[in-house]
Amino acid sequence: MDSEIAAAFQNIYNNNILEGLHQYHLTYGLILKLRNATKRMIKRMMMPAPTDLHEDTYGHRLLKLLQYFAKDSNEQLYHLDPETIWEISEDVSSKNSVLSPKLQSQLFHHEVIILEKKAVFTDEYIEKVKNYFLHVKRPEGTFDWKFDDYPLIPTLIKTAREKCNGCNSMRHIYCGPCGRLVDSMEPLIGKKLTLPFDLLVIIHWHDSLIKCTATHTKVLCNNNVTFAHWEKKNYGESWEPIVASLNADTDIVLFPSHDAVPAEEFQWKSDCNPDKTWRVVVLEASWQNGKTMARQIKEFRENLGLPPLIYISLSNIVGQYWRFHNEGNSAVSTIEAITHCANIAGFSDNDCTSLLLLFNLQKYRVQMRFNTEGNVPRAIHVNRFWDVDL
Ligand SMILES: [Zn+2]
Repeated sequence: MDSEIAAAFQNIYNNNILEGLHQYHLTYGLILKLRNATKRMIKRMMMPAPTDLHEDTYGHRLLKLLQYFAKDSNEQLYHLDPETIWEISEDVSSKNSVLSPKLQSQLFHHEVIILEKKAVFTDEYIEKVKNYFLHVKRPEGTFDWKFDDYPLIPTLIKTAREKCNGCNSMRHIYCGPCGRLVDSMEPLIGKKLTLPFDLLVIIHWHDSLIKCTATHTKVLCNNNVTFAHWEKKNYGESWEPIVASLNADTDIVLFPSHDAVPAEEFQWKSDCNPDKTWRVVVLEASWQNGKTMARQIKEFRENLGLPPLIYISLSNIVGQYWRFHNEGNSAVSTIEAITHCANIAGFSDNDCTSLLLLFNLQKYRVQMRFNTEGNVPRAIHVNRFWDVDL
């Protein structure tokens, strides 16, 4: 269709009559396609930008294209003025941008209904958008501006990127993969925290050290924090040696498997061995992959006749996780889970706040973008464009 649109553009510009073009049903998809093409062609200088003279605006061009391409000389189009059709196309485009790919594809095939100069959607479709919104909605308060605990963040956010002395990459504030602050941040962020346990983070091959928030522990704490990779069979590092090396006397797995002990009930400090430090094994993976990993760890150790590991679980924790995901409100980012677990094991509330510094820095950044550009994570803003009645 792109070449047809290009031909149509040239012809419209030269006031030629168009013949022999394909025609399509008037769907919101057609409006979006032609709107995007209008913008694209102008951007690529295939046409001069609209002059704002009476007969030459984005809306004029879009309306003409629609009249050419819509089947059966769709009557609705003859009652519309160019400004209205352009506004409608912008509105549909914003609405489309916050939907799941599945809903986007259904919107593409949705017949155009225009009432009182506005795009209208069937009740059935609105119902689907509503369900989608409820599905991805974040808990109340997730996006409240609450950074009073972090007076340093506005300063940190303005600092420039700097070369990491570990890997020579340019990093902002810290380098996740190396687990260190960039040099100029050391004096600003100050002394290291001490978690009540050490950590081993096993990262599933779908995840990476760059995205993994567990790296914050290595950056901010002086504990023993190690990372291992859970690779696909026959790729790179194999997980079997890691799992076999786990020690049932000191390693516990933070994962809510069915026989997991609630973290509150776990004996973090023992009277007969007060110096003992547990090592918490964290699985950095999606919920589904985490379940598989937890099961494989159990089975593999059973088969080797190794003692079973203790699993511990967290409850009453609501994530402040803003990223788009489908796992419901109990899904938290790894650093939130680690902090919560540390709190139960005796880490003070103040230390918890300090441990969440880099997490909140990321959150602050997202929030700033939301406040200044309106460019926001789609999960929470379905309602901003759709205004669904709940
Ligand atoms: Zn580095």
